[in-house]
Amino acid sequence: MRINVLGVGFDNVTMAEALARGAELLESEGAHYVVTPNPEIVEACRADAEAMAAVNGADLVLPDGIGVVYGAKMLKTPLKERVPGIEFGTGMIEYCANSGKSVYFLGAKPGVAEQAAKNLRQRFDGLIVSGTKDGYFKDDAAAAAAIRESGADMALICLGAPKQEKFMAKYGEASGCRLMLGLGGSLDVFAGVAQRAPSFYVNHNLEWFYRLLKNPSRFGRMMKLPLFLAHVAKEK
Ligand code: UDP
Repeated sequence: MRINVLGVGFDNVTMAEALARGAELLESEGAHYVVTPNPEIVEACRADAEAMAAVNGADLVLPDGIGVVYGAKMLKTPLKERVPGIEFGTGMIEYCANSGKSVYFLGAKPGVAEQAAKNLRQRFDGLIVSGTKDGYFKDDAAAAAAIRESGADMALICLGAPKQEKFMAKYGEASGCRLMLGLGGSLDVFAGVAQRAPSFYVNHNLEWFYRLLKNPSRFGRMMKLPLFLAHVAKEK
């Protein structure tokens, strides 16, 4: 059973359990997808029924962001732990490298997905990259067809929210891969274009604060966090 936080149902899993479930989905027939909502995405879903349906329609809904974990705790339905999308994605890429499964990288500015693929091939021996494409395309169906033609088993879909969630909900079957992961700005981090916060910030649940320091223009987006907590308090 999923844990409901303002209409989004989260799977109550640890990182290890999430990775085991991800591997299971990758090995089973059909098209599956994983979403990693943070408070900002939950707020976006509340205002957009199509985004809400796309998020709740995922095979695995992981709580990315400490805000969601706090929210669930405030509602007295605690989640086991935070499962950061980028760490889950890294674990799944490692699984693919070890099991001979191919991966496609879709999203971010031109050149970023290629650089991410190059870095990840160096990091994980034997990783098969079936193709890459930047995230600034006009034709969604053509992007899904490119994934299918590449023969990918798994695809990272990094178009920002809720665009990536809607894309996965609509084009899962058409893309021909078993598993799609919606991972926001992860390709920028894999490519070295953006940095993840130092471990001090991550360990103290202050990653959001680090991102704000690095990029003050995110302030407007970040104000979704107090808004989210206010909505949770009201729900309670
Ligand atoms: N992006 C994209 N196509 C678009 C809009 C955004 O590929 O039409 C990319 C953008 O370049 C960035 C990612 O999507 O790499 C979203 O990053 P953001 O920091 O918003 O994601 P977060 O991890 O915060 O959800």
